[in-house]
Amino acid sequence: MIEPNSSPPVISIVAPVYNEEAILHELYRRMAETLDAIGETWELVLVNDGSYDRSFEIMCELHEQDARVHVVNFSRNFGHQIAITAGADYAQGEAVVVIDADLQDPPSLIGEMVQKWREGYEVIYAVRAQRKGETRFKLWTASLFYHLINRITGVDIPRDAGDFRLMDRKVVDAMRRMREHHRFMRGLSVWVGFKQIGVEYIREERYAGETKYPFSKMLRFALDGITSFSYLPLQLATYLGFFIAGLSVLGILFTVILRLSGSQAFFGQASTLVIVLFLGGIQLISLGIIGEYLGRIYEEVKQRPLYIVSDAIGFREGGDGS
Ligand code: UDP
Ligand code: MG
Repeated sequence: MIEPNSSPPVISIVAPVYNEEAILHELYRRMAETLDAIGETWELVLVNDGSYDRSFEIMCELHEQDARVHVVNFSRNFGHQIAITAGADYAQGEAVVVIDADLQDPPSLIGEMVQKWREGYEVIYAVRAQRKGETRFKLWTASLFYHLINRITGVDIPRDAGDFRLMDRKVVDAMRRMREHHRFMRGLSVWVGFKQIGVEYIREERYAGETKYPFSKMLRFALDGITSFSYLPLQLATYLGFFIAGLSVLGILFTVILRLSGSQAFFGQASTLVIVLFLGGIQLISLGIIGEYLGRIYEEVKQRPLYIVSDAIGFREGGDGS
């Protein structure tokens, strides 16, 4: 049994966990090894995002063994980004490191991050120089997504950087003030500013288990990223509208001239039908885009809490999830 720290730790590690029973022991072992070698006081904040396997029991066991392991247990699954948010809310360290629980992000990089932090950097994000064990489809869609989001949004999100990063207390406090529901954490952590730097690493394969991000979740995640930093999609309807209106003026002129010169072109139903269907499609897409934003606005105005915690284990007084 390892006793808890007597004062707030220097380093907090935040790991979101969703059905990772096969990984937790190894995660703890590797974390403890790395962090003990760094030689600062630390805590490991495990956020159980509504797992239905043995993850929560294992977390409690780990806490019994080592009181520096703290557990936030959600009442249900709230999603990866919300789990990270909760972890950062509860973390009390001077530096907070967000890391995936599946050991795709190597804990051994934390040493380098802490060193950069000591040099005065306030956000140290990990850049994937190489990604192992990911499908070509995932690599391709990810590359397309980062290309797109950097083109159309004001924030310059580093390519190939995930959520694995070290943030100074100042950055965490700034981020905690943003309580939006559709959270794109890697964007928010760029948006707040501060001194940022990347460190490269090779992204490993999952230690065990399988990805919790099927394509549908990835798509939603990408939409959240785009809609929370850009309204270009909304403006697209305006641009398209002007373009098509301009085109139709030309079309009117063209048909008038054809008629005057006695041509039989454009008499059929087919051309009308095609144009009406085309415009109908564009209008529905535009409505859908407005809907995406409207739904998000609706969710924000309801002002529900971001997450509901059923147990918080091992935190000192004042650890909170406001
Ligand atoms: N995760 C979570 N809630 C979810 C989905 C995932 O907390 O609803 C956690 C998961 O346990 C892991 C991290 O988020 O620690 C990243 O998920 P995953 O490894 O499945 O994503 P990938 O690496 O395949 O993109
Ligand atoms: Mg993973």
